[in-house]
Amino acid sequence: MVESSKIKGPSGFLQLGAHLLVVDYGKVYHQDGSQIGFLFEDGLLEGTAEPLGKWDGLKSIEELNGAIFRGIDSYGLQLELPGPDRGPIGGLMYNFTISDPQSGSSNPADMGSTGGLRYNSKKDFFVLFGRIATPDHKLVGRMTDDGTLYFRDERFPETLRKMDENSQLSTLFQGTKSNGQAWRHEFQRQLYKPDKIYWENEINRYFEDMDRINAQQKKYIYDTMKFYADSGLLHMVRKSEGGAALGNVRHGASGVTQVRSGKVNLDRDEFEREVQFFKKFGALMAVPSQCKPYVEVRINLVVAHEYGHQLEFCLTQATQDRINEIYQKRLHACNRLHPLPEEAGTVSELIQPHQFEERIFVSGYARSTVHEFWAECVAAFAIKESRDVLKQIDSEIYDLLMEVVLKPERVVSTLEGKRENILALQTSLRVGGILTEDVFRE
Ligand SMILES: [Zn+2]
Repeated sequence: MVESSKIKGPSGFLQLGAHLLVVDYGKVYHQDGSQIGFLFEDGLLEGTAEPLGKWDGLKSIEELNGAIFRGIDSYGLQLELPGPDRGPIGGLMYNFTISDPQSGSSNPADMGSTGGLRYNSKKDFFVLFGRIATPDHKLVGRMTDDGTLYFRDERFPETLRKMDENSQLSTLFQGTKSNGQAWRHEFQRQLYKPDKIYWENEINRYFEDMDRINAQQKKYIYDTMKFYADSGLLHMVRKSEGGAALGNVRHGASGVTQVRSGKVNLDRDEFEREVQFFKKFGALMAVPSQCKPYVEVRINLVVAHEYGHQLEFCLTQATQDRINEIYQKRLHACNRLHPLPEEAGTVSELIQPHQFEERIFVSGYARSTVHEFWAECVAAFAIKESRDVLKQIDSEIYDLLMEVVLKPERVVSTLEGKRENILALQTSLRVGGILTEDVFRE
């Protein structure tokens, strides 16, 4: 049993017949000032005494005939229990009774410790008359009798986000509907392989040639795209712009011309070369330029780079303007501090080997245009190794990329429902234990 002393319950009033009982952070008080029970925000009561009726274990507020709680939850948001809606029941760790409102009869339901809602194949929740709660009784959302899920957005707790085929993760519910009928309900994302986890499925769907590359190349794509998959941004881009495939194209065509080409075509030779470089040297390396003693820093993250071009189209105009402002500042500084030698024959930033730490751009190529600048920064941000370097070299663009990942409502375009969709998906990824602090550790 959960120790109620460690949990902050709701505050307000519990009305039961003629009694109006004060509830203070979950503690239910008798009019005489004695504590007669504990109310959790998911509507379970623990250890009650008269006038609530003597009870040692847990029971739901529905079982106290006509009882209504009105007040606020631990977030300070309005809470009414049981509330107007009834929904399914599953995963309770105690035996309870469902009253059928039509016949007035009561059927004992014994589900033991089985059942409930399993989300993303790993997170277990109770469902109490439609209220979705964690094992320690935190209310996280609602479920209806037709299987629709609504989750509270951890970042905007007043907002319940409705899950749909784009945002909902694998779902298994076992229990009963609100009328007491036994019910098993399953949902699986489109074209997902159930034995593979979220990011692997998302990357397999994004990169269309996964079956036609070798193990080392696969590992490269997984390692360098997992971060964008787990943050929900890969899904957003695939839905909006399309996936990626191998072909024979010249690098960066869509970015250079700013023509929205949708799907990314990666040059096969460049891709194969990049995978080798990445294996040997990691994400960043310095290569000698034709103009001695200058070197150019390269990023070996071509898939994330091309993805960056697609991502740019998903941002608001104001955000694209901000990126351009940062780029123009960097270009100005670069021209002043690291002017290109006349015989350079490139538009990349060239530096002398001892200037490695003082370079203006995370890579030489990022100097060429604002679009390549953005794509190179998106690429650098994809894995921890180069993300940390980007933070050192350009904290302003690093902060903007943090916003893209963690505060998309500020930067993602509202067109085609993109912003609402990414917020719903990220809510879901947080509930499913995917979008956590851990995504920044790799
Ligand atoms: Zn490019």
